[in-house]
Amino acid sequence: MGDPFVELRNCTRCALSETRQRVVIGSGPQHPRLMVVGEAPGKNEDEGGEPFIGRSGQLLFRLIEEETGLTRVDCFVTNVVKCRPPQNRTPNAKELSACRPWIDEQLRTVSPALILAVGNTAAQSLFQTKEAMGVLHGELRTIGGVKALATYHPAAALRQGNNVVEMMRHDLATLAQELS
Ligand code: URA
Repeated sequence: MGDPFVELRNCTRCALSETRQRVVIGSGPQHPRLMVVGEAPGKNEDEGGEPFIGRSGQLLFRLIEEETGLTRVDCFVTNVVKCRPPQNRTPNAKELSACRPWIDEQLRTVSPALILAVGNTAAQSLFQTKEAMGVLHGELRTIGGVKALATYHPAAALRQGNNVVEMMRHDLATLAQELS
């Protein structure tokens, strides 16, 4: 069988294609209990080719496992933007809309039971809202008919410390209730 992601791997829909090392597609099982969607690859991900493999990812999946019992291999993991923005800046509106068809297709084909939107950019893009994370986090909503919840980005927890970790734990405990 040929590469099913050949089009995505060679995507040039936005200027991030000029600076990325590789498109970080994401991976995991079809029809998982949880699909984890972050913002965009960072340096580690651009080099390694998988989402959330740096410090943020380690913290995120430790908290997910402690609060829900799910491990990374149970989840499909991806980002709303598939290429690293230079200097890890926030993806802009043009990049988000250029990349949108890819996440829409993944949501359709992966077809998870629940979606976790990680950080402001992913949550605002997936929920199509301008509401801030302070309002969005921990609240059960839907994305295309699938139950979904937003939580803070682990990078914020790494910068700001324990109170963000505690809010993430609280959000993930709500997710665990939905999973059970
Ligand atoms: N931050 C994200 O949002 N996604 C990654 O894949 C890595 C860091």
